[in-house]
Amino acid sequence: MNEDEIEAATVTALAGQANGDDGPFSIGQTVWPGISKLIEECGELQQVMGKLVATGGRREHWSGDDLSVRLTEEMADVFAALDFVLEHNDLNPKRLTRRMAAKRRLFEAWHAVTARTVTPSG
Ligand SMILES: [Mg+2]
Repeated sequence: MNEDEIEAATVTALAGQANGDDGPFSIGQTVWPGISKLIEECGELQQVMGKLVATGGRREHWSGDDLSVRLTEEMADVFAALDFVLEHNDLNPKRLTRRMAAKRRLFEAWHAVTARTVTPSG
């Protein structure tokens, strides 16, 4: 089985676990569906970033995890949760896209300034 087939099989298996008994803010509910999952996924992303800080930026974690792989996976989970919340909570995707583009331009401008002024240390 290739990676795509493994992921498809995993989604099929996990989809069967939904039982509809979760509280508001959960996927499948009517009050802000997906918000609890988004919080959970943001927490998992923070956990990986904390490990990166703890290792001083090294990708190898003492647990055996490759932190660049874990970071990519948790970023993907957050993107998926954000996309779900956007679609299922009557939010404005155009506003999101506009804001995201503006924020991204700002980040790039900050990065360009920093990259010019930082001198390598010793
Ligand atoms: Mg996750």
